[in-house]
Amino acid sequence: MSETTTHKAGFVSIVGKPNVGKSTLMNQLVGERLSIITSKAQTTRHRIMGVINGEDFQIVYSDTPGIIKPIYELHKSMMNFVTSSIEDADIILFVTDIYEKFDEDDVLERLHQNNAPVILLVNKVDLASPEEVQEKVDYWAEKIKPTEVLAISALHKFNTSEVMECLLKYLPEHPPYFDKDTLTDLPERFFASELIREQIFLHYKKEVPYSCEVSIEYFKETDELIKMGAVIVVERDTQKAIIIGKGGSMLKKVGTQARKGLEQFFQKKVFLEQFVKVEPNWRKNKSKLNNFGYNG
Ligand code: GDP
Ligand code: MG
Repeated sequence: MSETTTHKAGFVSIVGKPNVGKSTLMNQLVGERLSIITSKAQTTRHRIMGVINGEDFQIVYSDTPGIIKPIYELHKSMMNFVTSSIEDADIILFVTDIYEKFDEDDVLERLHQNNAPVILLVNKVDLASPEEVQEKVDYWAEKIKPTEVLAISALHKFNTSEVMECLLKYLPEHPPYFDKDTLTDLPERFFASELIREQIFLHYKKEVPYSCEVSIEYFKETDELIKMGAVIVVERDTQKAIIIGKGGSMLKKVGTQARKGLEQFFQKKVFLEQFVKVEPNWRKNKSKLNNFGYNG
Protein backbone atom coordinates (compact mmCIF):
# COMPACT_ATOMS: atom_id res chain seq x y z
CA MET A 1 0.00 0.00 0.00
CA SER A 2 1.54 3.32 -0.99
CA GLU A 3 1.08 6.37 1.16
CA THR A 4 -1.09 8.16 -1.37
CA THR A 5 -3.77 5.46 -1.67
CA THR A 6 -6.50 5.23 0.92
CA HIS A 7 -7.28 2.02 2.71
CA LYS A 8 -10.83 0.74 3.18
CA ALA A 9 -11.89 -1.61 5.94
CA GLY A 10 -15.12 -2.62 7.59
CA PHE A 11 -17.45 -5.18 9.07
CA VAL A 12 -19.95 -6.92 6.82
CA SER A 13 -22.72 -8.92 8.47
CA ILE A 14 -24.47 -11.65 6.54
CA VAL A 15 -27.97 -12.02 7.94
CA GLY A 16 -31.22 -13.70 6.96
CA LYS A 17 -33.51 -16.63 7.63
CA PRO A 18 -32.13 -20.15 8.08
CA ASN A 19 -31.19 -22.09 4.95
CA VAL A 20 -31.18 -19.20 2.46
CA GLY A 21 -27.48 -19.72 1.70
CA LYS A 22 -25.63 -17.36 4.07
CA SER A 23 -22.82 -19.77 4.91
CA THR A 24 -22.43 -20.83 1.30
CA LEU A 25 -22.10 -17.19 0.30
CA MET A 26 -19.59 -16.34 2.98
CA ASN A 27 -17.42 -19.29 2.06
CA GLN A 28 -17.49 -18.24 -1.59
CA LEU A 29 -16.59 -14.70 -0.67
CA VAL A 30 -13.81 -15.68 1.70
CA GLY A 31 -12.63 -18.51 -0.52
CA GLU A 32 -12.14 -20.94 2.34
CA ARG A 33 -14.44 -23.39 3.94
CA LEU A 34 -15.08 -21.58 7.21
CA SER A 35 -18.73 -22.05 8.07
CA ILE A 36 -20.33 -25.43 8.06
CA ILE A 37 -23.03 -25.86 5.45
CA THR A 38 -25.77 -28.44 5.46
CA SER A 39 -29.28 -28.53 4.07
CA LYS A 40 -30.72 -28.61 7.60
CA ALA A 41 -31.68 -25.37 9.27
CA GLN A 42 -29.81 -23.84 12.20
CA THR A 43 -26.44 -25.44 11.74
CA THR A 44 -24.73 -22.10 12.29
CA ARG A 45 -25.00 -21.38 16.00
CA HIS A 46 -22.19 -18.97 16.49
CA ARG A 47 -21.17 -15.80 14.86
CA ILE A 48 -18.31 -16.68 12.56
CA MET A 49 -15.84 -14.15 11.31
CA GLY A 50 -13.95 -14.50 8.09
CA VAL A 51 -11.51 -11.88 6.93
CA ILE A 52 -10.43 -11.13 3.39
CA ASN A 53 -7.60 -8.84 2.57
CA GLY A 54 -6.70 -6.95 -0.55
CA GLU A 55 -3.81 -4.57 -0.99
CA ASP A 56 -5.99 -1.59 -0.11
CA PHE A 57 -8.94 -3.15 1.66
CA GLN A 58 -9.96 -5.54 4.41
CA ILE A 59 -13.46 -7.00 4.76
CA VAL A 60 -14.42 -8.67 8.03
CA TYR A 61 -17.42 -10.92 7.49
CA SER A 62 -19.72 -12.24 10.16
CA ASP A 63 -21.82 -15.19 9.17
CA THR A 64 -24.71 -15.42 11.60
CA PRO A 65 -27.27 -18.01 12.68
CA GLY A 66 -30.55 -17.76 10.79
CA ILE A 67 -33.09 -15.39 12.31
CA ILE A 68 -35.68 -17.39 14.24
CA LYS A 69 -38.08 -16.87 17.12
CA PRO A 70 -36.30 -18.01 20.30
CA ILE A 71 -37.70 -21.06 22.09
CA TYR A 72 -34.74 -22.44 23.99
CA GLU A 73 -32.05 -20.53 25.89
CA LEU A 74 -29.80 -21.64 23.08
CA HIS A 75 -31.95 -19.79 20.56
CA LYS A 76 -31.84 -16.60 22.62
CA SER A 77 -28.11 -16.73 22.72
CA MET A 78 -28.01 -17.42 18.97
CA MET A 79 -30.18 -14.35 18.33
CA ASN A 80 -27.87 -12.22 20.46
CA PHE A 81 -25.15 -13.01 17.97
CA VAL A 82 -27.40 -11.75 15.18
CA THR A 83 -28.27 -8.53 16.98
CA SER A 84 -24.71 -7.67 17.93
CA SER A 85 -23.58 -8.52 14.45
CA ILE A 86 -26.08 -6.07 12.93
CA GLU A 87 -25.18 -3.39 15.48
CA ASP A 88 -21.53 -3.25 14.55
CA ALA A 89 -21.90 -3.75 10.82
CA ASP A 90 -20.63 -1.21 8.30
CA ILE A 91 -22.60 -3.02 5.61
CA ILE A 92 -25.43 -5.51 5.98
CA LEU A 93 -25.83 -8.29 3.45
CA PHE A 94 -29.44 -9.36 3.84
CA VAL A 95 -29.79 -12.72 2.17
CA THR A 96 -33.05 -14.22 1.03
CA ASP A 97 -33.79 -16.84 -1.59
CA ILE A 98 -36.32 -17.42 -4.30
CA TYR A 99 -38.49 -19.48 -1.93
CA GLU A 100 -38.71 -17.24 1.11
CA LYS A 101 -41.83 -15.21 1.78
CA PHE A 102 -41.68 -12.06 3.82
CA ASP A 103 -43.29 -12.42 7.21
CA GLU A 104 -44.06 -9.85 9.83
CA ASP A 105 -41.32 -10.48 12.34
CA ASP A 106 -38.74 -8.07 13.65
CA VAL A 107 -36.21 -8.68 10.88
CA LEU A 108 -36.89 -5.32 9.26
CA GLU A 109 -36.56 -3.48 12.53
CA ARG A 110 -33.23 -5.14 13.19
CA LEU A 111 -31.94 -4.27 9.74
CA HIS A 112 -32.61 -0.58 10.03
CA GLN A 113 -31.57 -0.13 13.65
CA ASN A 114 -28.20 0.88 12.24
CA ASN A 115 -27.62 3.33 9.40
CA ALA A 116 -25.44 0.91 7.48
CA PRO A 117 -26.29 0.32 3.82
CA VAL A 118 -28.34 -2.83 3.29
CA ILE A 119 -27.46 -4.93 0.26
CA LEU A 120 -30.27 -7.30 -0.55
CA LEU A 121 -29.27 -10.57 -2.15
CA VAL A 122 -31.85 -12.85 -3.71
CA ASN A 123 -30.06 -16.18 -3.72
CA LYS A 124 -30.59 -19.52 -5.51
CA VAL A 125 -31.62 -17.88 -8.77
CA ASP A 126 -30.33 -21.02 -10.51
CA LEU A 127 -33.58 -22.64 -9.37
CA ALA A 128 -35.95 -20.13 -10.98
CA SER A 129 -36.82 -18.60 -14.34
CA PRO A 130 -35.67 -15.03 -15.14
CA GLU A 131 -39.32 -13.86 -14.75
CA GLU A 132 -39.60 -15.41 -11.30
CA VAL A 133 -36.28 -13.90 -10.31
CA GLN A 134 -37.40 -10.43 -11.41
CA GLU A 135 -40.65 -10.84 -9.51
CA LYS A 136 -38.74 -11.77 -6.34
CA VAL A 137 -36.28 -8.93 -6.73
CA ASP A 138 -39.13 -6.41 -7.03
CA TYR A 139 -41.02 -7.97 -4.16
CA TRP A 140 -38.08 -7.82 -1.75
CA ALA A 141 -36.94 -4.40 -2.88
CA GLU A 142 -40.40 -3.12 -1.97
CA LYS A 143 -40.44 -4.86 1.43
CA ILE A 144 -36.90 -4.09 2.57
CA LYS A 145 -36.07 -0.84 0.73
CA PRO A 146 -32.42 -1.79 0.43
CA THR A 147 -29.55 0.33 -0.82
CA GLU A 148 -28.75 -2.18 -3.58
CA VAL A 149 -30.27 -5.41 -4.87
CA LEU A 150 -28.50 -8.31 -6.55
CA ALA A 151 -29.80 -11.66 -7.80
CA ILE A 152 -27.19 -14.32 -7.13
CA SER A 153 -26.42 -17.99 -6.90
CA ALA A 154 -23.95 -18.48 -4.09
CA LEU A 155 -23.60 -22.17 -4.91
CA HIS A 156 -22.76 -21.59 -8.58
CA LYS A 157 -20.83 -18.34 -8.03
CA PHE A 158 -23.27 -16.42 -10.21
CA ASN A 159 -22.92 -12.67 -9.53
CA THR A 160 -20.76 -13.25 -6.44
CA SER A 161 -17.99 -11.06 -7.84
CA GLU A 162 -20.62 -8.33 -8.24
CA VAL A 163 -21.35 -8.73 -4.52
CA MET A 164 -17.67 -8.10 -3.89
CA GLU A 165 -17.68 -4.96 -6.09
CA CYS A 166 -20.74 -3.68 -4.33
CA LEU A 167 -19.10 -4.19 -0.94
CA LEU A 168 -15.97 -2.33 -1.99
CA LYS A 169 -18.17 0.54 -3.15
CA TYR A 170 -19.71 0.98 0.33
CA LEU A 171 -16.75 -0.02 2.48
CA PRO A 172 -15.65 2.97 4.59
CA GLU A 173 -12.15 4.39 4.58
CA HIS A 174 -10.38 2.87 7.54
CA PRO A 175 -7.04 1.25 8.36
CA PRO A 176 -7.09 -2.57 8.66
CA TYR A 177 -8.66 -3.94 11.86
CA PHE A 178 -6.68 -7.16 11.91
CA ASP A 179 -3.26 -8.34 10.92
CA LYS A 180 -3.43 -8.91 7.19
CA ASP A 181 -2.65 -12.63 7.64
CA THR A 182 -5.72 -13.16 9.79
CA LEU A 183 -8.31 -15.49 8.38
CA THR A 184 -10.69 -15.69 11.31
CA ASP A 185 -10.96 -14.74 14.97
CA LEU A 186 -12.09 -18.20 16.03
CA PRO A 187 -9.61 -20.79 17.24
CA GLU A 188 -8.73 -23.95 15.38
CA ARG A 189 -10.55 -26.05 17.96
CA PHE A 190 -13.76 -24.31 17.00
CA PHE A 191 -13.41 -25.30 13.36
CA ALA A 192 -12.53 -28.83 14.39
CA SER A 193 -15.74 -29.10 16.41
CA GLU A 194 -17.78 -27.53 13.59
CA LEU A 195 -16.46 -30.06 11.07
CA ILE A 196 -17.44 -32.92 13.38
CA ARG A 197 -20.84 -31.36 14.01
CA GLU A 198 -21.35 -31.12 10.26
CA GLN A 199 -20.88 -34.89 9.97
CA ILE A 200 -23.39 -35.44 12.76
CA PHE A 201 -25.92 -33.40 10.78
CA LEU A 202 -25.22 -35.49 7.72
CA HIS A 203 -25.41 -38.89 9.44
CA TYR A 204 -28.38 -38.70 11.83
CA LYS A 205 -32.04 -37.88 11.44
CA LYS A 206 -34.66 -35.72 13.09
CA GLU A 207 -33.86 -34.13 16.41
CA VAL A 208 -30.64 -36.00 17.13
CA PRO A 209 -28.23 -33.50 15.51
CA TYR A 210 -29.93 -30.60 17.25
CA SER A 211 -29.39 -32.32 20.60
CA CYS A 212 -25.65 -32.66 20.05
CA GLU A 213 -22.78 -30.43 20.90
CA VAL A 214 -19.15 -31.15 20.21
CA SER A 215 -16.29 -29.99 22.36
CA ILE A 216 -12.63 -30.59 21.73
CA GLU A 217 -10.96 -31.99 24.85
CA TYR A 218 -7.44 -31.91 23.52
CA PHE A 219 -5.74 -30.61 20.39
CA LYS A 220 -2.06 -31.37 20.01
CA GLU A 221 -0.27 -30.34 16.88
CA THR A 222 3.16 -31.52 15.79
CA ASP A 223 4.96 -31.02 12.49
CA GLU A 224 3.51 -34.23 11.09
CA LEU A 225 0.06 -34.53 12.57
CA ILE A 226 -2.71 -33.23 14.81
CA LYS A 227 -4.05 -35.42 17.58
CA MET A 228 -7.43 -34.42 18.92
CA GLY A 229 -10.09 -35.77 21.22
CA ALA A 230 -13.70 -34.76 20.62
CA VAL A 231 -16.58 -35.20 23.05
CA ILE A 232 -20.02 -35.46 21.50
CA VAL A 233 -22.49 -34.30 24.14
CA VAL A 234 -26.10 -35.49 23.87
CA GLU A 235 -29.15 -34.97 26.09
CA ARG A 236 -30.33 -38.56 26.64
CA ASP A 237 -29.05 -42.15 26.84
CA THR A 238 -31.22 -43.09 23.84
CA GLN A 239 -29.46 -40.43 21.77
CA LYS A 240 -26.10 -41.73 22.91
CA ALA A 241 -27.07 -45.19 21.65
CA ILE A 242 -28.13 -43.73 18.29
CA ILE A 243 -24.91 -41.76 17.95
CA ILE A 244 -22.79 -44.83 18.65
CA GLY A 245 -24.85 -47.22 16.51
CA LYS A 246 -24.69 -50.98 16.41
CA GLY A 247 -21.24 -52.08 17.54
CA GLY A 248 -20.02 -48.50 17.18
CA SER A 249 -20.69 -48.51 13.43
CA MET A 250 -22.30 -45.07 13.16
CA LEU A 251 -19.73 -43.30 15.28
CA LYS A 252 -17.02 -44.89 13.21
CA LYS A 253 -18.56 -43.52 10.00
CA VAL A 254 -18.83 -40.04 11.51
CA GLY A 255 -15.22 -40.23 12.67
CA THR A 256 -13.90 -41.36 9.30
CA GLN A 257 -15.71 -38.61 7.38
CA ALA A 258 -14.88 -35.94 9.95
CA ARG A 259 -11.22 -36.91 9.84
CA LYS A 260 -11.17 -36.48 6.06
CA GLY A 261 -12.65 -33.00 6.42
CA LEU A 262 -10.25 -32.12 9.22
CA GLU A 263 -7.23 -33.26 7.23
CA GLN A 264 -8.37 -31.18 4.30
CA PHE A 265 -8.98 -28.14 6.47
CA PHE A 266 -5.73 -28.31 8.45
CA GLN A 267 -3.66 -29.73 5.58
CA LYS A 268 -2.20 -32.29 7.95
CA LYS A 269 -2.71 -35.88 9.02
CA VAL A 270 -5.29 -36.04 11.81
CA PHE A 271 -5.73 -38.59 14.55
CA LEU A 272 -9.24 -38.26 15.95
CA GLU A 273 -10.49 -39.84 19.15
CA GLN A 274 -14.24 -39.55 19.87
CA PHE A 275 -16.23 -39.87 23.11
CA VAL A 276 -19.98 -39.65 23.65
CA LYS A 277 -21.31 -38.14 26.86
CA VAL A 278 -24.84 -37.56 28.21
CA GLU A 279 -25.58 -34.13 29.71
CA PRO A 280 -29.33 -33.93 30.40
CA ASN A 281 -30.97 -30.75 29.08
CA TRP A 282 -27.78 -29.00 28.05
CA ARG A 283 -29.74 -26.85 25.61
CA LYS A 284 -31.89 -25.40 28.37
CA ASN A 285 -29.12 -24.90 30.85
CA LYS A 286 -27.44 -21.55 30.56
CA SER A 287 -24.33 -22.29 32.58
CA LYS A 288 -23.66 -25.31 30.45
CA LEU A 289 -24.16 -23.21 27.34
CA ASN A 290 -21.56 -20.80 28.67
CA ASN A 291 -19.13 -23.68 28.96
CA PHE A 292 -19.62 -24.30 25.27
CA GLY A 293 -18.95 -20.67 24.44
CA TYR A 294 -22.50 -19.45 23.77
CA ASN A 295 -22.10 -16.31 25.83
CA GLY A 296 -22.73 -13.73 23.11
P1 GDP B 1 -27.66 -20.76 5.73
O1 GDP B 1 -28.49 -21.50 6.73
O2 GDP B 1 -28.35 -19.50 5.30
O3 GDP B 1 -26.25 -20.53 6.17
O4 GDP B 1 -27.63 -21.68 4.40
P2 GDP B 1 -26.48 -22.64 3.85
O5 GDP B 1 -25.37 -21.84 3.26
O6 GDP B 1 -26.14 -23.64 4.91
O7 GDP B 1 -27.24 -23.33 2.64
C1 GDP B 1 -28.43 -24.07 2.81
C2 GDP B 1 -28.66 -24.98 1.60
O8 GDP B 1 -28.91 -24.21 0.43
C3 GDP B 1 -27.46 -25.87 1.29
O9 GDP B 1 -27.94 -27.15 0.90
C4 GDP B 1 -26.80 -25.15 0.10
O10 GDP B 1 -26.08 -26.01 -0.74
C5 GDP B 1 -28.02 -24.58 -0.62
N1 GDP B 1 -27.67 -23.41 -1.43
C6 GDP B 1 -26.99 -22.30 -1.05
N2 GDP B 1 -26.87 -21.43 -2.07
C7 GDP B 1 -27.47 -21.99 -3.14
C8 GDP B 1 -27.67 -21.57 -4.52
O11 GDP B 1 -27.25 -20.53 -4.97
N3 GDP B 1 -28.39 -22.44 -5.30
C9 GDP B 1 -28.87 -23.63 -4.85
N4 GDP B 1 -29.53 -24.40 -5.70
N5 GDP B 1 -28.69 -24.05 -3.58
C10 GDP B 1 -28.01 -23.24 -2.73
MG1 MG C 1 -25.37 -20.98 8.02
